[in-house]
Amino acid sequence: MWRKLRITVLLLILATVVQQTWLDKADLAWKNNFYIAVYPINADGSSKVSAYLRTLTRDDFEAVAEYFAQEAAPYHLGLRRPIEVQLGAAVDKIPPAPPNGGSVLNNVVWSLKFRYFAWKNSPKVNVKPDIRLYLLYYDPLTTLSLSHSTALNKGRIGRVNLFGDSAYVKQNLVILAHELLHTLNATDKYDLGTTLPIYPDGYAEPDKTPLYPQDFAELMGGRVPISEAQAVIPKSLQQTIVGEKTAREIGWLK
Ligand SMILES: [Zn+2]
Repeated sequence: MWRKLRITVLLLILATVVQQTWLDKADLAWKNNFYIAVYPINADGSSKVSAYLRTLTRDDFEAVAEYFAQEAAPYHLGLRRPIEVQLGAAVDKIPPAPPNGGSVLNNVVWSLKFRYFAWKNSPKVNVKPDIRLYLLYYDPLTTLSLSHSTALNKGRIGRVNLFGDSAYVKQNLVILAHELLHTLNATDKYDLGTTLPIYPDGYAEPDKTPLYPQDFAELMGGRVPISEAQAVIPKSLQQTIVGEKTAREIGWLK
């Protein structure tokens, strides 16, 4: 009896996983555009960040939709705007933080907790979102460096750390776009230890001569390589491109 029940439960889980994987694959055929919801969060609870969040409008994220339209154009997806960004209401809870170098099990537990959080905290937006990004804003005067952002392709959710100050708007959108592509199966293309982009896939122009300095960053490479040992954060999305390997991972290139 118990054995049968256990097998039934396992089969159900397997069926769900197979269906989810199939759905994820079907999505990446880019038959329809992806609707993103971004939910601002006052991560440090400061009145400064709170005031900043009140100034945010949908227009502040329009550059992301325009950027992906421009980057997708050479791949002829047949979608004029493959990504649409909707600004949702502010969320007053903080999504669970990923484990710090935890075990595989810790990571699985965290990803389930995060998916549960997203299920409970998704204020309604016009079009039901395919991807949800929680934008955790910090005051740059009290938080000097941002910890790592994380996004999951399973469940298509992200936890993005940003600076809540108008001086950082353009750099924030680079981080947002990078995490967005993680939810669409793109992998990192930089060395996690040194943060240097990995050659050739993490380079915007791997065939450039001379190779250094590069003028652009590959979005998943994260930085603009200046020399073999030095790379700088791109100033805006316009200083980044979606490289070939990334395009393949997200289904733009077959
Ligand atoms: Zn990344």
